[in-house]
Amino acid sequence: MRNAGSSLAVLVAAGAIALGAGCGERERPVTVATDTGFVPFEFIDTRTGELVGFDIDLIRAIADRAGFEIRIVTLDFDGIVAGVQSGRFDIGIAGMTITEARAETIDFSDPYYDAGLILAVRADETEIRSEADLAGRRVGTRTGTTSEDYLRRRHPDAQVVAFPGIVEAYMDLRAGRLDAVLYDVPNVRYYAAREGGGEIRTVGDVLQGEQYGIAFPKGSPLVAPVNDALRELRADSTFDRLHETWFGDPEPEE
Ligand code: GLN
Repeated sequence: MRNAGSSLAVLVAAGAIALGAGCGERERPVTVATDTGFVPFEFIDTRTGELVGFDIDLIRAIADRAGFEIRIVTLDFDGIVAGVQSGRFDIGIAGMTITEARAETIDFSDPYYDAGLILAVRADETEIRSEADLAGRRVGTRTGTTSEDYLRRRHPDAQVVAFPGIVEAYMDLRAGRLDAVLYDVPNVRYYAAREGGGEIRTVGDVLQGEQYGIAFPKGSPLVAPVNDALRELRADSTFDRLHETWFGDPEPEE
């Protein structure tokens, strides 16, 4: 359901963006930055060549509901955080974990997905059973992410190798050039069950509970209308339908 209040907020937001753009421009689409490869949130469908995923469907549904046009651009994860901080992008949606450090320089929407970090190893691995076994091991992850931060803080005795894209880390793990990969639970599980071809599996507990949020430059007028739209999509089951499409079941109850 749309209410007059949220439509008004969107008009104000659109106006503010038009003003922000300057140069007498009347209105421009909202620039949404997303990741190049983070299954199943945003990735290229190899059959169609199209960018698809839960985040892509979600931001389209939000924009539709809130009444703004979007233009999607893709780049590596660390560039998204930096580009939202600098105001180069109006929105970042990329399975981005809400952290205190990031919240100092960017605004987040309400959380929309519960995640966490988990270790992946090769299916035939026998020695690494949990994070207690990482000393001296080559552990892959992705540049600028919460898992890179976790590894550098908690496992200074591991050999941390950070890649711009996580798929490179998974490939190196499968090829034996890494001993483990630390990454986001939904991404590791989805990859292991599909492209992983049965060659990798998870070990140990979920290491750090995390929540994903949509990112905005500090003080963005889009935060409120996006949160309103997110609430509406949850209330009318659109959100559950998207969740089911990409994760096989509706959002778990609190
Ligand atoms: N959730 C992780 C982070 O925010 C990684 C996200 C991603 O790779 N797209 O750091």
